[in-house]
Amino acid sequence: MKKTAICTLLAIMIVLLASCTESKSSRTVYVMDTVASFSLYPENEAAADEISSALNEISDELSPSDGKLFGLNNAGGGEMGKHTRRLLPISQRLYEETRGAFSPYLGSLIELWGIGSKNYVPGAEELLAARSSAKAENAGYTGGRVDLKNGVRLNFGAIAKGYATDVIKEILEKEKVPGAVISLGGNVYVHGTKPGGEAFNVAVRDPAGDENDWILSLPISGKFVISSGDYERYFKKDGKRYHHILDPETGHPAEADLTAVCVISDSGAKGDAYSTALYVMGREAALAFWRERADFELILIGRDRKVTITEGIWESFVPNDEKGYVYEVARR
Ligand code: ADP
Ligand code: MG
Repeated sequence: MKKTAICTLLAIMIVLLASCTESKSSRTVYVMDTVASFSLYPENEAAADEISSALNEISDELSPSDGKLFGLNNAGGGEMGKHTRRLLPISQRLYEETRGAFSPYLGSLIELWGIGSKNYVPGAEELLAARSSAKAENAGYTGGRVDLKNGVRLNFGAIAKGYATDVIKEILEKEKVPGAVISLGGNVYVHGTKPGGEAFNVAVRDPAGDENDWILSLPISGKFVISSGDYERYFKKDGKRYHHILDPETGHPAEADLTAVCVISDSGAKGDAYSTALYVMGREAALAFWRERADFELILIGRDRKVTITEGIWESFVPNDEKGYVYEVARR
């Protein structure tokens, strides 16, 4: 796909309000079907090069349409690449935690729909076949090998970008970079602070607007801000809209009461898997999931234009009053 097409297909693009005039190293690279941009403060070309090559390496290995993962899926398993080997056990744990709402085993279903590529509405029989292959029990792994039975295909589309930001964080720590902002198709990681010691502000995009419209912003330091939404990667057929977040139980695009979920946490992979899973679950179940845990915060944007903000960020967010959203706090 062409870059220009992809730009309009990004998941919630988070606009970075921070503007910094200090010395920095900035890059924009096209990886994992999206635009990745990052800035390191102060200038550090060596670390920027290292991040660019890690992003390319991850993208090449985890791409579901070519590369090593594609080969593994076609061959029914085999020796996993370095990143698959790390990511599959993490994904399995998040699959269990979200009771399957996030699943790395949906490759056959995702490829059948081809949302954003072939844009196909499958018939009942094909859907049934894809659903029966897209099950955790068809995949097993020990050591560095994975065994894929009954047509199950791995797909890390809902977690790979978050995982990539975890890898970037490791590089920034190793290279002792004091401040950095990374945006991978709207998945943001903020490392440290601005050169003056102030936190970076991250703005959350308005799902109903274009990529420069934001509904709220909040100061972030040392955290991942990761979003999933239904309004950018979709197609329309016979008057019906089909978006790219699938409900593993039905095999269809999830019929959620939310348009976007934004997770603020200390892990990219976890935030990415959660944002997809909580979108599938819907507002009430997402809040129940949050109440059982103490390690992340949430922004839930509803179809009813109600924005639910969890208590840990309620005091610090700044709404964009022009947008007419209604805000409510969720407490434990
Ligand atoms: P984005 O990639 O746009 O940031 P997500 O992180 O929500 O958005 O990932 C959505 C992608 O993940 C889809 O395009 C599809 O490839 C895959 N996917 C869709 N539904 C699920 C699901 N329930 N669990 C895991 N992966 C999914
Ligand atoms: Mg995700």
